[in-house]
Amino acid sequence: MRIGIIGAGQLGQMLGVAARELGHECRFLDPADAPPAATVGPVTRAAFDDVGAIAQLAADCDVLTYEFENVPVDALRKVAAAIAVFPPPDALELAQDRLSEKRLFEKLGIPLPPYCVVDSRADLDTAARELGWPIVIKTRRFGYDGKGQFVARSADDLAAAWDELGDKALIAESWVEFERELSIIGARSQAGERVSWPLTQNQHVDGILRSSLAPAPDSAGSMALAETYMQRLLEELNYVGVLALELFVANGGLLANEFAPRVHNSGHWTIEGSTSSQFRNHILSICGASPERADCPRPAGMVNLIGSVPDAVMALDDKRMVLHDYGKTARAGRKLGHVTVVAESEHERDQLVARVLQNVTQSP
Ligand code: AMP
Repeated sequence: MRIGIIGAGQLGQMLGVAARELGHECRFLDPADAPPAATVGPVTRAAFDDVGAIAQLAADCDVLTYEFENVPVDALRKVAAAIAVFPPPDALELAQDRLSEKRLFEKLGIPLPPYCVVDSRADLDTAARELGWPIVIKTRRFGYDGKGQFVARSADDLAAAWDELGDKALIAESWVEFERELSIIGARSQAGERVSWPLTQNQHVDGILRSSLAPAPDSAGSMALAETYMQRLLEELNYVGVLALELFVANGGLLANEFAPRVHNSGHWTIEGSTSSQFRNHILSICGASPERADCPRPAGMVNLIGSVPDAVMALDDKRMVLHDYGKTARAGRKLGHVTVVAESEHERDQLVARVLQNVTQSP
């Protein structure tokens, strides 16, 4: 099949590799010059909101998907009359607005941190009174990797928060003193078959994912519940493809933070660490096949390379580690690659991850 992918970043690149292994061909749309996925298929250089370019990509392909969330849903709906678009545009629309996302969690009985809608400066004061300190104020739309967020610790911070974010639609939520952050990634086929990978534990620095451990240590007791939440989302959305749900563990329970209707950074370990990767299962699902086994036979870990790919990491020579270099130009805060480790024990995995992290943090 010919698969059209909106977005040609590293997620598109890894989807493209998986598609090629399955005998499919990919075409991409992305505004960047020479984006990572250009190594796996032709890229039309166009803005993500170029409705004509999206329509042209759809006309050239058998199925359309996306690796980037800020795609105009109307443009996808329009082409969906003529071509299969997966994940469904309705799921993307819900994920694009933190308020509709939270309302979906509430509808499905998935617990989440207390929150308030903030449409005015007065709403912000009311939210702070209702939620107590600290609160985190987030833009409803176009936030990613901790961008568009402000943590307010007292009433003194609210003026600065309003100055920074007040021109946008907002929500405020309670700051969660979480014990740790987990994610669950699932896939659903067109026939409704579902798989979920084991829970992954994620560490963020400045709102950006730094490292992941899979399976998340001591998470066997939470897996059934997380899988239930995943199933509710997949079924409610009549979902096709890969979906990621980010969770906080607080007071021993799970609280939903957000979901992503796409392959997810916390699932990169699945390339080497699982029988079937998130990328492979996404392609299988959107192309009408059944997803394959989503397991984690040996402890796996992943470290993101952000801002630079240190020489010490390039020089790592260990069969238990695999370096993925996305071929991007280095820039502060930019995800340039990742290292996956697969080990024989959790202890060994943790040591390997610590070694890579040390190399990453000690390098300029
Ligand atoms: P988000 O863009 O909502 O995924 O937020 C990025 C990161 O900020 C999360 O992965 C958390 O580490 C942190 N964060 C977001 N919301 C909260 C919250 N309500 N309480 C504590 N930490 C949060």
